[in-house]
Order: sequence, then C-alpha cells, then structure tokens
Amino acid sequence: MAKITESDWIWRDGEFIPWKDATVHLLAHSVQFGSAVFEGIRCYSTPKGPAVFRLREHLKRMYNSCKIYRMDVRWTMDELVAATRELIAKNKLDACYIRPMVLRGYGAAGMVPHDSPVETYLPCWPWGAYLGDEALEKGVDACVSSWHRVAPNTIPAAAKIAGNYLSGQLIKMEALRNGFQEAIALGPDGMLSEGSGQNVFVVDGGALYTPPIDGTLLPGITRDTVITLAKDAGIPVHVQPLTREVLYTSDELFVCGTASEVTPVKSVDRLPVGDGSVGPITRKLQQQFLDIVNGRARDVHGWLTPVR
Ligand code: PMP
Repeated sequence: MAKITESDWIWRDGEFIPWKDATVHLLAHSVQFGSAVFEGIRCYSTPKGPAVFRLREHLKRMYNSCKIYRMDVRWTMDELVAATRELIAKNKLDACYIRPMVLRGYGAAGMVPHDSPVETYLPCWPWGAYLGDEALEKGVDACVSSWHRVAPNTIPAAAKIAGNYLSGQLIKMEALRNGFQEAIALGPDGMLSEGSGQNVFVVDGGALYTPPIDGTLLPGITRDTVITLAKDAGIPVHVQPLTREVLYTSDELFVCGTASEVTPVKSVDRLPVGDGSVGPITRKLQQQFLDIVNGRARDVHGWLTPVR
C-alpha cells in the first residue's frame, strides 16, 4: 500500500513550517474524538505548469463540513487558494495531492469542543494512481461490502471529517483481506451507496446511473465532474436509487474520486461486469477526465487553477 512521501513544507495557520514540525498533541480533540475536517485535492502536471483541479469546489465542501460541526475557519476561500498555490510552488512540486485539514486542537478535556482551538493545515505530497496504474487501464475486482454505510441523520455523510472514515476503513480492509481491490457498500436500506472512498456509476443501455445524495454518501467532486462530462457528451444521466443486483447485470461499472480518478470495475463478487473488459462509455469518460485534468483538452468549465 502507498506510504506517504514527505515534502518539505506544510502551511499552518498563515506560516510555512517544516514537514516534521506539523504535530498535534496526543490529547488534541481531533485525535480523541475524530473532529478533523479534511479534503483531498489533486494538482496535475499540465503543459502550462502545475494546476489544481476544482480547488474552490473542494474548499467549499470543506467550509460546509466545518459549518455542520460548528468549526469557525479563520481563513477565507481566497486566502486558502493563495496559500495552496504558494505551498505547491514552495515545495517545488508538480503533480501532487493536497490534504487541507481543519482540526480541533488541544484544550477541551471532554467531547464538548469549544475549549479546543480550530487549526488549519495544508500539507501536500506526491501521490500517483491510488489503486495503481493497472487499475486505471484494466479495472479492479470489487466486492459488495458486508459493512453498510451510515444511516442518514446519524453522522452526516456529506461532511468529510476524520470520524466518518472509520466506515471506509472497515469496508476497505475487509475487501483487501478477501482478495479484492475495492468494495462497494450498501446504504442502511440495502440500496447502493458508495465505495470506501469513491462514488459509484453504472452504465446500462448507453445511459449512466448513479445513486442520489441520500445521506449515506459523500457528494463527490469527481462524481459531479463525471455527470457534467457525460451530459457534455450527450450521454443520458440518471440519478436514482439503485439496487445491489445492477452491479451484476449492468454493461459497465466504474468508481470515481480524487484519489481513484475514474477507475473501471471489472468484476463484482467474482462475477464479470459485462464481458470483464473496460466498456466504451467508461473509457470515453475516463479519457475525457484525464485529458482535461492533464491540460490536454480545453478546460471549458474552468476547473483548473494554475499554481503559477
Ligand atoms: N466518497 C468518499 C467516502 C470519499 O472519501 C471520496 C473521496 N473524497 C469520494 C466519495 C469521492 O469524492 P471526490 O470526488 O470529491 O474526491
């Protein structure tokens, strides 16, 4: 599995500090109680230099996550955009992964967080294909997880916060232990929800299907990107509840997320998806996605923020 590759600098509340100094106390509220809001964003190498993909949309989701948990971020969107660009340049990185974090630090003894300061960090480091280059090319073998996703109105699935990732960890560890690369989880009602860290799309009869934002899954920026690209290409898109069995009977299946990008799924529970090879609509959307993020196609939606 991918170990972290260190870079030189991390931005912390307005200053750049050496990577090794970005520590928090054992009893920080976020360590005790999971209260670290975060984002995962990719910066790509383009012919015009490094460019961050949908930076403002990711930061918007981060502010939303903070609002739900009543965490006041000291920094404006424009300040964090500027800090992110400066950080990548200062680390002399080209393609990299950015992990903004807003966490509750040291202070509060118990669960009530208000005596802990809200701290903002921007780390980034080089990170290649999350599921491997072969996964992007040939697809992954997935299973349906025995772990369901959280129910609506238990903990908010739309907030990207550390505590939520206990669910993803169980889902992913089970999949790996059983010899699969990924898992797709069902919601509490048994309908399709999402992967351990990806949203799910089904292709059937030339149309694209994905579950709605139903309180069990994260509203992915890549999900939104794929829906937009499909509409641009004239592919019908249906956002609707989906049953488990469509995973077995659909023509094509893929998962998508910042880390995973657009990754085809070639089998589910050892049943081949279609004929087991990557289908034409999956490949087309994947190609369009990769062309835009890598600056090979025109960025008609204004999704790239140049670092320089
Ligand atoms: N679901 C979960 C649980 C995730 O962690 C992620 C990755 N952030 C996604 C979906 C996909 O979201 P995005 O496309 O914004 O990365």
